[in-house]
Amino acid sequence: MEFLASDALRGRGSGTADELIAATYIASELRAYGIQPAGDDGGYLQRANLIERKFTGSPTLTITTPADGKQITLINGKDFVVSYLTREQFSGPLQKIDLGKGDFQIRERSVVLIKGKDQHDARQTAFVAAAQGAAGVILAGPNEPEQFEAGARDLPHLKPQLEGQAGSAQGNINVLELSAGAIKLLEGVPEGTVLEFEGLAATEEGHTLNVVGKLRGSDPKLRNSVVMLSAHLDHLGIGPPVNGDNIYNGADDDASGVAAVLELARVLGAGPRPRRTVIFALFGSEETGALGSEYFGEHPPMELGKIAADLEFEMIGRPDPVVRGDRLWLTGWDRSNLGLALAAHGARLVADPHTEQNFFARSDNFGLAKKGVVAHTISSFGLHSDYHEPSDDLVHIDFKHLNAAIGALLAPMEWLVNSAFRPEWSEGGQP
Ligand SMILES: [Zn+2]
Repeated sequence: MEFLASDALRGRGSGTADELIAATYIASELRAYGIQPAGDDGGYLQRANLIERKFTGSPTLTITTPADGKQITLINGKDFVVSYLTREQFSGPLQKIDLGKGDFQIRERSVVLIKGKDQHDARQTAFVAAAQGAAGVILAGPNEPEQFEAGARDLPHLKPQLEGQAGSAQGNINVLELSAGAIKLLEGVPEGTVLEFEGLAATEEGHTLNVVGKLRGSDPKLRNSVVMLSAHLDHLGIGPPVNGDNIYNGADDDASGVAAVLELARVLGAGPRPRRTVIFALFGSEETGALGSEYFGEHPPMELGKIAADLEFEMIGRPDPVVRGDRLWLTGWDRSNLGLALAAHGARLVADPHTEQNFFARSDNFGLAKKGVVAHTISSFGLHSDYHEPSDDLVHIDFKHLNAAIGALLAPMEWLVNSAFRPEWSEGGQP
């Protein structure tokens, strides 16, 4: 964790050279633990090609008032910055929402201006509005002029996609953050005013990396009922500075989960060979739409039907104050009988207490679950304020908790990888 979350790895940005270093390091650890490679061409790495659309000039947001057809053009890096983008063009009539005024109903294909005192709240609501069919969302932007300067210097890009994939893995989410002056201007125009975002973009090619290792089961029958342990190796990389720090170290998210998978690999690799085959998968590009795990789901090292269970480890570096002691929680607890079975074999595991956050659908397990694999995420994320901030660093890790949490999982994992237990979805539990 000390290495993965160090400044040397610059936040392990999805699809970057830093992600490659993290992946190479993890592969070397797996090799040292006696885990066999299960990636491309006899190695540990599995490479997924990505395509990314990047603007070649500053995109604009044009405001056309319905009454007189008068147009005002706002410019990226001057009047707004792009916060999240899955389309290079979007337009629609303006709808205004005030979070201080209670419930709202998003009008489909509108461009929604969200007003709220709390920026974190407004950002969360932006994703809700997008899910409800908004063509685009506009928020009050950062106050720091450097963020606008950075927006002008590094032209925005759309969220990357897997090569050959139709549509966006992230759905249709377009969020712009406007300067105080531009917000004022929008507040002054009536609802229904047409807003259009557009610009010229070109395709860039890239790739992301998964690390895949395998411990072949000793039992000729059970070895075809595979247990998979996973986490994501990427994080947010270098980003907007907060208090002078621009490295998003991602210690809890998700160097802690990688540490758990590596520690389980070390213990299982050192002991007598498990009866079942165990796959260790560390995914790239989770943070840009779970692209690595999606690619893995399409190019698994064995038929997906042979994978009996996947446990993804996410953010277990700090205790969750709403559960007792060093307990971890499992997302989608009621969706299958896996959580209960692990708890019955000594795992200090409880149901996810934050169901309103829909964490089951927010990590790598979800894509595999949609394909039928009984896949959940284990976590103890207590909604701390360092989430996705440069301050998610080693200083904020509770190593006593992390150590206890992983230690308590060893016995139930040893049971799982030696048993014939095959978890099943509950009625209606599979997404
Ligand atoms: Zn994560």
